[in-house]
Amino acid sequence: SPFPITHESRIISGFGRGSSELGIPTANIPITPDLNQLDTGIYYGWCKVIPHVQENDEKFIRKNGNEVIINHGRTLCKSELTILPMVMSIGWNPFYHNKEKAAEVHIIHKFDCDFYGASLKYNVLGYIRPELNYTTKQALIDDINLDISIAKQVLLEKEAYRQFKDKL
Ligand code: ADP
Ligand code: MG
Repeated sequence: SPFPITHESRIISGFGRGSSELGIPTANIPITPDLNQLDTGIYYGWCKVIPHVQENDEKFIRKNGNEVIINHGRTLCKSELTILPMVMSIGWNPFYHNKEKAAEVHIIHKFDCDFYGASLKYNVLGYIRPELNYTTKQALIDDINLDISIAKQVLLEKEAYRQFKDKL
């Protein structure tokens, strides 16, 4: 098994479709060689947002402790810098006919802001399903919600997976 795969990557911009069209934001990250070796499909694991700190932000961060995420080093917003469950899609997004393979992480948590420019530390622990095409957007959304509930169940309820949380 190639798992766990652990990395820290900068969050990049995608097509801006996750939030606006599906209501499910996905933080896009570069495909590393070991992600590229995986079959396309949906994976699960743990992740943590690491703020992109610039010099001017330092005072603010000290004042607010652990409760800030820096967005482009400019906009500041509060969130939890904790280790959270995630689902990751690796593939071509057949529903959208993408030309380039992408890795996208939906963090299973409701954030009150974007955090482009921050980094994401993650470990990939397992595989849920292959990448499928869908005839309707709603069918895609339903399947993503099923992925989310599977990931939560496995990560939170199985001790073997919960252990990897502490290692991130
Ligand atoms: P893009 O196509 O640029 O990836 P999305 O609509 O998929 O745009 O939104 C992704 C962005 O939303 C992330 O880069 C991140 O800054 C923000 N975001 C907010 N909440 C979440 C979340 N729960 N999981 C992933 N990204 C989130
Ligand atoms: Mg996205």
